[in-house]
Amino acid sequence: MARRHDPAQPRFTPKPEQQALMPDVSGNAINGLGEPAPRRPKPIYWHDPSTLPHGRLQQWFFTQTPDDPRIHAARAERQQIVDTPLAPRAADASALSAQQWTDGVKTAALEHGADLVGIARMRDDWVFEGHRVAERWVIVIGVGHAFDAMRTAPDVPAAVEVIRQYGRGNRAANGVASWIRARGHEARPHGGPMAGPAVLIPAALACGFGELGKHGSIINRTLGSSFRLAAVFTDVPLLPDAPDAFGADDFCTRCRVCADACPPAAIGDHKQLVRGEVRWYVDFDRCLPYFNEHMGCGICVAVCPWSLPGVAANLVTKLARRG
Ligand code: SF4
Ligand code: SF4
Repeated sequence: MARRHDPAQPRFTPKPEQQALMPDVSGNAINGLGEPAPRRPKPIYWHDPSTLPHGRLQQWFFTQTPDDPRIHAARAERQQIVDTPLAPRAADASALSAQQWTDGVKTAALEHGADLVGIARMRDDWVFEGHRVAERWVIVIGVGHAFDAMRTAPDVPAAVEVIRQYGRGNRAANGVASWIRARGHEARPHGGPMAGPAVLIPAALACGFGELGKHGSIINRTLGSSFRLAAVFTDVPLLPDAPDAFGADDFCTRCRVCADACPPAAIGDHKQLVRGEVRWYVDFDRCLPYFNEHMGCGICVAVCPWSLPGVAANLVTKLARRG
């Protein structure tokens, strides 16, 4: 299902009404593209729009959603999950070992619908400027997309699937937080689509979800590229997971399926310096206008060979053989 942009066709041009909302500042500058020194990320999208240079574009995104009952139903279901209260915090605090807490939260995540769960020690440089995460640990949750829906990106079934999986991520995060609270400790869940207090991709990389792909999403050894993240912040004692490298980063240096398929040519061929780290980076200023006019797009995730059902595990084996 790989798609390639037809070079004879003009690249995407945003609608004039969207162009009129674009701020003077580049999103790449906000993200720290080209900056040699590490710093905390700045909120850029999916935060309170009144605080963001791109806030009017964030609001405009919702005006572009088709009036489709499948989208309305998926959003209503997700909101119901988000609005479900957490379990009350028990008066007696359980004194479990770090191993018992770790086993318990991972089991709770899987029982509440997670496909992936990992634990990382929280770091300040993952927290957005103006936000605070006082907790010592982040439990990261991954929920896989249904491929048949995602392959339609950027059409309605893919948009519905993304909304649905954000709902599933919220449900799993709420389930883990409730499990901890029922044992007398505090836990704070976070699920998309809003960005929350911290960037989750670095935390997910730290706790073994996989490697960062050229398309700016994580490539996981079983789910490939096609999954969403959610998280729980807590202070209960936990055991961290280790990062997982299996050759996906190197694979991306020899593949350009996502870059060729991206209509606004937002995916570059080389890693770039971003806040002191050389890594894959998607051009925010090119991606966002297309994303806004195409229900969140998702083409790059859908076309990535790692996302095809059954392919990720085979690729991992092949890459391991090549050594
Ligand atoms: S989501 Fe952005 S980077 Fe990915 S294909 Fe669409 S426009 Fe390109
Ligand atoms: S499509 Fe290819 S280059 Fe892009 S993220 Fe997937 S493996 Fe990497």
